[in-house]
Amino acid sequence: MRHRKLSIAVAAVTFVATLAGTVKAQELSPVEQEIAAHVEGHAAQAEALLEQIVNMNSGTMNHDGIRAVGSIVQQRFEGLGFATRWIDMPDSVNRAGHLFAERIGTRGRRVLLIGHLDTVFEPGDPFQELSREESTASGPGVVDMKGGVVAMVYALAALEAAGALDGATIRVALIGDEEFAGLPLELSRGDLVAAAQESDVALGFEGGETGRAVVARRGSSAWTLEVSGQQGHSSLIFGERFGSGAIFEAARILHRFHDEVRGPEYLTFNPGIILGGTDVSYNATDNRGTSFGKTNVIAQRVVVDGGLRFISEEQKEAAREQMRAIVADHLPGTSAEVFFKDKYPAMPPTEGNQALLALLDQVSRELGQGPVEAFDPAERGAADISFVAPYVDGLDGLGPFGSGAHTPDEQLDLVSLPAVTKRAALMIYRLTQE
Ligand SMILES: [Zn+2]
Repeated sequence: MRHRKLSIAVAAVTFVATLAGTVKAQELSPVEQEIAAHVEGHAAQAEALLEQIVNMNSGTMNHDGIRAVGSIVQQRFEGLGFATRWIDMPDSVNRAGHLFAERIGTRGRRVLLIGHLDTVFEPGDPFQELSREESTASGPGVVDMKGGVVAMVYALAALEAAGALDGATIRVALIGDEEFAGLPLELSRGDLVAAAQESDVALGFEGGETGRAVVARRGSSAWTLEVSGQQGHSSLIFGERFGSGAIFEAARILHRFHDEVRGPEYLTFNPGIILGGTDVSYNATDNRGTSFGKTNVIAQRVVVDGGLRFISEEQKEAAREQMRAIVADHLPGTSAEVFFKDKYPAMPPTEGNQALLALLDQVSRELGQGPVEAFDPAERGAADISFVAPYVDGLDGLGPFGSGAHTPDEQLDLVSLPAVTKRAALMIYRLTQE
């Protein structure tokens, strides 16, 4: 079953990667060798920058900390000839804002680099400092994703040193609230979307894994089911006057969701909480509520709050359509309504994304780092690159490798830092040469 579920999409990706593999490996050009050598030669400086910014707390709600990390990185981009700006969020969004940088040229594809400055570790967390043991660095955000931010800076530095940034169009979006996005998303992600609309390709620098990158991620959305029935004496349930009650109606709907909506690959939906009875109060912000009911009273209200993950807008819309139809097919004496809310869009495995993976695979082989294949989208949660997926070709997971993100065991393999920096630099180089 699990094997069958490996999708056509993933099969297609493997096929593209195999094709790329059969292309005779090219030698790196002299400029590309210079770029790779610059990255190697600056590995110690890259580690120093990593240590500096990991030791600065930038938990999502530590706005000053995020701005401080931002200003360190901002100086680096300025030094590489980028125009930079800090984008503040309105007070109501209650987030630090974002650092954007850009160099506008006329040549090649317009590239958008995506990362984030915040971490899940707030100032009160005991995990605050980078420590090293041989080639492993432990620290808050080393993988998620200050390591990726450093890779971005040194990839661009290598390109700058080789004169390869001249004429290229590169935008950088370093988000200040990736771990706990400010609402509404239209505001907290509006600038990211606008940058994507002026770009052709997006590269995400979140932590990666040896030999794998992200061409697709599922989107995530929310649904709420509200059911009402007629309160009455339980002895009269199923009768003409009172019908079946809200709880049976909710059970009917959920059962049919389970049996009929389930099926399409990568589609999942989960009712996370249910409250029912004669008196129900539910606070959607806290995902908490109370209910009261009696065994001899027909229930008059049910609330169900759930989530739904999907691989494409079409899949999401089809599922919603089916859910609406099931909801509308009420039991006697009941009514129900389902409400949907978008959160993260899907990043489907498009041909353009697969072509970027093929380019990464090629560059990786030419650097002697071996082949790169696609992650199974089912393993990947939603991320900021998802917001730009409708506008550009995208590839994520370009950051250095590690483990334990969001835990006090977060660790980074320091050997992977120059390795992924080289890959990224050569990808950007080739994309902006075309
Ligand atoms: Zn994270």
